[in-house]
Amino acid sequence: MPKARDTSIATRAAHAGETWEAGPTVPVSMPIYQTSVFAFEDLDQLDAMQSGRLGGYMYTRMGSPNAAALAQAVADLESAPAGVTCASGMGAIFAALFSLCGAGSHLVLAGALYGGTHTLVVDELGRAGVRATLLEEADPAAIDRAIGPDTRAVYLETITNPTLRVADLPAVAEVCRSRGVPLVVDNTFATPVLCRPYTLGASLVVHSATKYLGGHGDLTLGLIAGDRGLVEAAAATSVRTGATPDPFGAWLCLRGLKTLEVRVRRQAENAAAVAAFLAAHPKVVRVHYPGLADHPDRAVADRVLDGGGAMLSFVLPGGLDEARRFVQALQLCRLVPSLGETGTTVSHPVLTSHRGLPEEQRRRLGIVPGMVRLSAGLEASADILEDLEQALRQV
Ligand SMILES: *Cc1c(COP(=O)(O)O)cnc(C)c1O
Repeated sequence: MPKARDTSIATRAAHAGETWEAGPTVPVSMPIYQTSVFAFEDLDQLDAMQSGRLGGYMYTRMGSPNAAALAQAVADLESAPAGVTCASGMGAIFAALFSLCGAGSHLVLAGALYGGTHTLVVDELGRAGVRATLLEEADPAAIDRAIGPDTRAVYLETITNPTLRVADLPAVAEVCRSRGVPLVVDNTFATPVLCRPYTLGASLVVHSATKYLGGHGDLTLGLIAGDRGLVEAAAATSVRTGATPDPFGAWLCLRGLKTLEVRVRRQAENAAAVAAFLAAHPKVVRVHYPGLADHPDRAVADRVLDGGGAMLSFVLPGGLDEARRFVQALQLCRLVPSLGETGTTVSHPVLTSHRGLPEEQRRRLGIVPGMVRLSAGLEASADILEDLEQALRQV
């Protein structure tokens, strides 16, 4: 199976968005089209655009040069034919799923999911008459059994939060292909640097660009990439529901994308160093990192991911009290309920992302009160390890 290891992704990321053309002289950085609407010369020109005879932009909710350049760049990095930018990760996930289903439809959600996605499907789509089967693991045979005549999509995350389970995408994609059901993959944690689900058989790939694609903790955006027809349908849902982005956010994200490859590789190196350090530390009882030999999906990760990734979680034996003291003692690493920024950040799944799950289910998934999640940043790894070491001394 093809892995994401592809040196040209570095080149493609570094030149993201440069297909855009302004005129005879081209600025190296794309201008921000900070306009809500475009002016037309006459009714004939407006009519030509409305009828599709003339390409271009009319009204920013329906599309803007910045959003289009970003979508094209992300589709290119995902090796997918088409893409669309949305106002947030949740906007992208809603548009992707709702464009595929309606009242009476059924979805299969496999493996642990981002809390917002779970709520979106169960509460919002549920009110619209969409039924969902929630599987605790992305097991291909269980997914096959869960698919029925009304199933309109199978949805999963490449790398799950916070136990970093890795889905066997080629095997799941084969099940979906044989049952004629589109596979939608949230690739936020892996990024196209570590995995390109479209090349492994997914029909649509979604991202919270708020995390690694933007990469600097300064924007909220989402992306969809995949089959052209499905992306066009999702784009229509996104435009109609107003989940479309602001030009400045899209511009910032395109700027962030240019350094995506170096950021994610460096962050993954740091995560591997932190995982090895914590796994050998006497005060840590458990480390979840797909690059470690004892991770349940290590063999899958070796086939599907290019490296172990930049996220990990670990467990302190003293529960919530110990996690609280540890987080308080950190000096370099900040407590941030998000991920993918330039600095190393930690969060606490039980109190934040997985707060809404029943305790019994959390325990089954291994999400315990002593668990801390870490998003490795770009610092010198020795500085991150030193901060973790001094904080562990204080618990
Ligand atoms: C953050 C996140 C989302 C939601 O994205 P927003 O940009 O906050 O709307 C969806 N999926 C995953 C895996 C996330 O980490």
